[in-house]
Amino acid sequence: MGRVSNKVAVVTGGALGIGRAACVMLGAEGASVAVTDILDEQGREVAELINSSGGRAAYWHLEVTDEAQIKSAFSEIEKQFGPISILVNNAGITGANKPTHELTQEEWDHVMNVNVKGVFLCTKHVIGSMRRAGSGSIINLSSIYGLVSAPDIPPYHASKGAVRLMTKTDALLYAKDKIRANSIHPAYIWTPLVEKFLKSQGDVTELRKKLDTLHPLGHVGEPDDIAYGIVYLASDESKFVTGSELVIDGGYTCR
Ligand code: NAP
Repeated sequence: MGRVSNKVAVVTGGALGIGRAACVMLGAEGASVAVTDILDEQGREVAELINSSGGRAAYWHLEVTDEAQIKSAFSEIEKQFGPISILVNNAGITGANKPTHELTQEEWDHVMNVNVKGVFLCTKHVIGSMRRAGSGSIINLSSIYGLVSAPDIPPYHASKGAVRLMTKTDALLYAKDKIRANSIHPAYIWTPLVEKFLKSQGDVTELRKKLDTLHPLGHVGEPDDIAYGIVYLASDESKFVTGSELVIDGGYTCR
């Protein structure tokens, strides 16, 4: 309890999956949590859950590709809770699953806009607030697909590779401001994103079994497996950690 007390956290894509788990755990550990998403009903429910469990949270509609919306939401969050010291750049999409030669420019751009430009814009607009807070932690959701490849979803791989290196550049640029930046690299985690992806590929139960076998620990992960890593990187326990890659993958990338 209290590992991130007195800190203000913004989580993008906080209504479902990993973002939701991060919001709930950050709230339980004492942060004031700005739950943001494009799914308003589910996002509000997450904020209500944190408040009804004795934490402090509110919901903002935030589309991560919309710079004006980010600017105004971050300014309102700071007014309500104080300067932001934790940003979890979590919102992300899988996008089109086609080989490179079949992809359209629109399909490519869509993934890059959400997964890469979204991280850039949210980071851009949080720096001022983190400087006012006196320190900060930026946590970017990359993926095992930002470290190793697989013969699928080419724009997703490109986007998560970009996020990995953007993190290191920002770690260097803002170290002097005591702002840390780290990336997290989950393997398959059972969330609506993965379920939706499997539904588009065939029988979900059979495909989940196949996914399980890709992980040496024998199964896909759950959102809390990643939320624990997020809380560590958000807290002062990781005060000497910046530019690092936290791989949480059940052994997927050992091979
Ligand atoms: P999820 O279950 O789909 O949840 C992501 C949330 O972000 C959803 O509420 C989604 O809304 C929202 N979102 C999508 N586009 C957005 C936008 N443009 N602006 C704001 N919010 C937006 O995803 P997840 O599995 O928890 O994944 C979270 C992050 O972890 C992503 O960056 C993902 O790439 C990364 N990751 C996930 C896994 C995994 O196996 N689950 C593995 C490695 C990395 P909609 O539902 O309307 O899209």
